[in-house]
Amino acid sequence: MLSRTSPSGRNVSRPEDRAGAFLTVDLAAIVENWRILKRRAGPNCDIGSVVKADAYGLGLEPVARALAAAGCKTFYVAHLDGAIVLRNVVGPGPRIACLNGPNRDTERDHVAFNIIPVLSTPEHVRAWQNYALKEEVLQESIVQVDTGMNRLGLTAREFQALMSDSDGFLGLHPQMLMSHLACADEPHHRMNRSQLEAFRTMLGLFRTRFPDAKASLANSSGVYLGPEWHFDYARPGAALYGVNPTPEKPNPMLPVVNLKARIIQVRRVDTPGAVGYGAAASAREGAKIATVSMGYADGYLRALGAAGVGILDGIKVPVLGRVSMDLTTFDVSNVPDSAAVPGGFIDMISHVVTVDDVARAAGTIGYEILTSLGHRFHRRYLPAPVTAGARS
Ligand SMILES: *Cc1c(COP(=O)(O)O)cnc(C)c1O
Repeated sequence: MLSRTSPSGRNVSRPEDRAGAFLTVDLAAIVENWRILKRRAGPNCDIGSVVKADAYGLGLEPVARALAAAGCKTFYVAHLDGAIVLRNVVGPGPRIACLNGPNRDTERDHVAFNIIPVLSTPEHVRAWQNYALKEEVLQESIVQVDTGMNRLGLTAREFQALMSDSDGFLGLHPQMLMSHLACADEPHHRMNRSQLEAFRTMLGLFRTRFPDAKASLANSSGVYLGPEWHFDYARPGAALYGVNPTPEKPNPMLPVVNLKARIIQVRRVDTPGAVGYGAAASAREGAKIATVSMGYADGYLRALGAAGVGILDGIKVPVLGRVSMDLTTFDVSNVPDSAAVPGGFIDMISHVVTVDDVARAAGTIGYEILTSLGHRFHRRYLPAPVTAGARS
């Protein structure tokens, strides 16, 4: 961040005075969402936290610190770099698993930072095995099987081949078998049951060799499919950050994100005419247009030109015209002049127009809205209360 004094020693404004938009992340709500998931899953299921992609765009360090302080014992990231940052944030205690698996020659990094690799291909298994045997380390690992998504994980045939080879997992110490659901947000989709059954079959086989191996299948929505899907470890991400894991029902999670953009100009249209690039929208005489200091470069997707809405003074205001790189125009004709003023703020994401609402308007999912959030906002974190017992 820029400092508060200029090179000439003069006092300058605060970053929040300069920012075009404010992003507020409610860490207490994230922690409460984690507890809601824990209650849902019951005492026999470890609710970990997926904090990949910089905690879904909300900030790996503050989010992971709050969850660890609340007692979260397992974290999942996608990349080794994130895992190493995370290890420094949460200290030596919590388990950290690296979902995308080990790249070549990174085995020693996993050992050095105590990161659990997720082994998803025969090559992963072989490389890890060679390392473990050569270095004589007994390093834990997670084995991922594909149960129908065809994205990442050993196929049933690859898995069976490794299992029927007495050297297949020699030297490895797998603590968990995991798989990932493709359609958990659609509870009636037949994939959910077929993946569950495929997973159970593979788990049964796995436990003939590794009787103590744990199992993990559910993401956020999987936790809401029911107890059969819970197993020992669940891996929710999106629900922690307020995205609805049950899109067909009211959202059981607390909202986490507030994003407000600063109004730069309010224009009373004196001659009917076009608004924005491409002259794609028009304004009638007397209409009132507010231009805010935020655009698609901040993750307010260009697709929102068609259907985006904000909130100003408690009133829904539609986006008017195309979203620009650094600017967005809203029709604020229905908002009193006293509220539609330069220096005021339009809520772009709030309790009223939620992440899921913005996603629907953009034709995407809440995940993409969150992970697209830009880096020019002034970010504020509402602290999670420190709970007795979780203090370390
Ligand atoms: C991203 C991811 C999750 C978390 O999914 P959500 O839908 O955000 O809860 C869990 N497991 C794996 C393997 C993932 O890639």
